[in-house]
Amino acid sequence: MKKRIYIKNLKKYIGKEIEIYARINTRRDQGKMIFFDFSDSTGTVQGIVLPKSAAMQDAKKVRENFAVLVKGNINERPENNKNPDVPNGDIELEILKISTINTSETIPFPLEDTSDINENIRLKYRYLDLRSERMKKNVKNRFRVQQFIRNYLADRGFLEIETPLLSAPTPEGARSFVVPSRLDTGKFYALPQSPQQYKQLLMVADFDKYFQFARCFRDEDSRGDRQPEFTQMDLEMSFVSEEDIMRLNEELLITLVKELYPEKKIQEIPFPRMTYNDVMEKYGTDRPDIRKDKSDNDLLAFLWVTDFPMFEKVADDNNFDEAKNWTFTHNPFSKPKDEYITDFVSGENIENILSTQYDIVLNGFEIGGGSIRNHNPDLLRKTFEIMGYDQKRIEENFGHMLEALSFGAPPHGGIAWGFDRLLMILEKEKSIREVIPFAKTGEGKDLMLDAPDRIAEKQLEELMIKLVNE
Ligand code: ASP
Repeated sequence: MKKRIYIKNLKKYIGKEIEIYARINTRRDQGKMIFFDFSDSTGTVQGIVLPKSAAMQDAKKVRENFAVLVKGNINERPENNKNPDVPNGDIELEILKISTINTSETIPFPLEDTSDINENIRLKYRYLDLRSERMKKNVKNRFRVQQFIRNYLADRGFLEIETPLLSAPTPEGARSFVVPSRLDTGKFYALPQSPQQYKQLLMVADFDKYFQFARCFRDEDSRGDRQPEFTQMDLEMSFVSEEDIMRLNEELLITLVKELYPEKKIQEIPFPRMTYNDVMEKYGTDRPDIRKDKSDNDLLAFLWVTDFPMFEKVADDNNFDEAKNWTFTHNPFSKPKDEYITDFVSGENIENILSTQYDIVLNGFEIGGGSIRNHNPDLLRKTFEIMGYDQKRIEENFGHMLEALSFGAPPHGGIAWGFDRLLMILEKEKSIREVIPFAKTGEGKDLMLDAPDRIAEKQLEELMIKLVNE
């Protein structure tokens, strides 16, 4: 097979005859001459069919969005036709032959600027939408940022370790998506809301520097810019303090911005830190946008928020006024700060107990959060007792964690970044859907494959599931 020539490299072939595989982005028939814009995954180039060219007949037949094989000469453009603002703006492809590899229907929306196109149409035809320059850039940069983080952490001794997607249902926290088991009829797996328990179990297993680009699933009511599945950059380490985790993450973020987004400016280094109480008092929110110039999208204002309360009151479902039980604010596995352990153990002054939880905020968005974990099983049990669980419920829901911690678990802690959100800010997009290649709608629908969808009666039978019509 001949080595394929990519459009971004065409400049190397000035004065030569070459062949490229390309898509026709635009075609302007001027009668005697025809102009084209061709693209492949690497770039774009202008093509021209000169008057009386042998390629003219075929060039009259091809249409926009056809996949073609083009043979031609790479010529330097005459000085007055050069366009330094576009890639390959100083060369053009003089077409000698153009052959159709596959034809195309007219596509449902133009790709030059998709920002005003109805988003549902873009999502239904995502594979076309992804051909646009902007979405191509977002997908490529998503990969570049992931790759950067992977290399950075690997260089520092971290392992990326995959954890299961078919996991155990837990009654706590946000709602999980469940998956019925056929072999064990009547039972269900749950898709993980985060790899929290697995990553802690990896610490027990002595993999003391773990990370993962982890797909997480939360079945929440559609609320603003949420996706039912999203990606976390999840990380955990053993024998560390809050300071260690925060410093590592801060350095990673700074290096990432400097290397991959040099045009951006970080407002303050080291990142400022505020306690939850202070931030609430000053801004009335725990994720304030502290940019000095809020219209500057290249300004990045990171902020650590620390010292979150460990518990808050929950109202029961029917009576929101009457808060009865305590629940955790962020993560039941977090450890209270040392100075509150006495109150924690005796179950006193619960509202005042502060946790080791830290959140990282960027330009008004929470882009990550984590904590030092409660690695002592007796102390962890206390958290659930404060939440009003009896021993049976604790055993049922968390017995496996308490048992694991009893085998010499090292002290550990970690963090998870909302990777889509970080990328959205770095790419100056308004929604995380713009940086997720195959995003779902705000209502959690995949318009392209039409999911969620009904399943066949036979499948339901095999799963012993009966739908009840109300
Ligand atoms: N697993 C936690 C979350 O998803 C983050 C962490 O504490 O590492 O919010």
